[in-house]
Amino acid sequence: MDPVTTPRHEPAGYDCPFCLLQRGVYDEYNQPTDIVATTELALARISPKWWPANPGGALVIPREHHENLYELPRAVGHGVWDLVQEVAVAMRTAYACDGISIRQHNEPAGDQDVWHLHVHVFPRHHGDRLYEQNREARWIAVGERTRYAGALASELDRRPASS
Ligand SMILES: [Zn+2]
Repeated sequence: MDPVTTPRHEPAGYDCPFCLLQRGVYDEYNQPTDIVATTELALARISPKWWPANPGGALVIPREHHENLYELPRAVGHGVWDLVQEVAVAMRTAYACDGISIRQHNEPAGDQDVWHLHVHVFPRHHGDRLYEQNREARWIAVGERTRYAGALASELDRRPASS
């Protein structure tokens, strides 16, 4: 998409929570213990918000600030996708879940609520009704996130990065 006409919704002076996290500025939603993997181009973290039957969901973001998929440089997108795959494979083992789903939102009409591209990686369980419970997401305390971060980071460390 033409960079001049790419739709943007990020307000002026936006304090991007994902950029602040990478710069070491923390709050209750963004803690260093949430980070489970970093590569040259991408970072994976436990999400601060979970859906009721899908605890331990993760977010994969580009290290650089890009608002949405439209403007994402291809090389960065490939780096994000590589880490999404690694997180999915590790999550399947670490959580002993039955499946994995991913989703990625662009613009308010697309349910985007943080103006830094992120891909959700969800652990799935038979009968979890993830897509029927979109309003049931809740913020999760740091301690609860850390348990899942530990399990996922250990599994990611155990696996050599795929080439
Ligand atoms: Zn950002």
